[in-house]
Amino acid sequence: MDILTPKIADITVEGLSLSGDLTGEELGLADADVSIRGTVAIGLDLRAIERTLYVTGVVEGTAIHQCVRCLKDFDDPVAFSLRVAYERELKVTASASKRDDGRKKKATTPPEVEQDEQNDDLYYFTGDQLELAPMLREQLILASPMHPLCSEGCLGLCARCGKDLNEGPCHCVVDQTGSPFQVLRTMKEKLRESGNR
Ligand SMILES: [Zn+2]
Ligand SMILES: [Zn+2]
Repeated sequence: MDILTPKIADITVEGLSLSGDLTGEELGLADADVSIRGTVAIGLDLRAIERTLYVTGVVEGTAIHQCVRCLKDFDDPVAFSLRVAYERELKVTASASKRDDGRKKKATTPPEVEQDEQNDDLYYFTGDQLELAPMLREQLILASPMHPLCSEGCLGLCARCGKDLNEGPCHCVVDQTGSPFQVLRTMKEKLRESGNR
């Protein structure tokens, strides 16, 4: 069975376990999303409770990120658990939104809140099988750092010469010719020189 497209009919109350190693390509990850080194190990448990399919599982592997400071690629371990729910996509009728004109609003009518208290990410499916790749792709992107750093103390690149300062200091001496103090100093020296004459 294809781990990424289990049949709805196979997902029961007893649950269905899926596991496997998948490449970024198989997950539909583009280079712009997250680069995966090798494969990610995925273990999922799918369970049907009434009409909702619950997917729990773990994702483990190694992602390649580019450090925002020194711009070097570095390996970053990925390990997270996920918990999402799938519901069959229903044809949305236009009447639902049009009715919201305020006229029929009664103070005694509470909003129909019958949703689960669980904060599972909700996905939708159509047809007779689940498409897990887009969900896994999204979860992997969500799990990625917004500002990847190769290390907390990464020194980054010299703004002037571009040298990676993690490899040692560069030879850019703090140039003071442009600073106002240096300009003053130079002027004073010149005045002194002319005064001595
Ligand atoms: Zn870095
Ligand atoms: Zn420099």
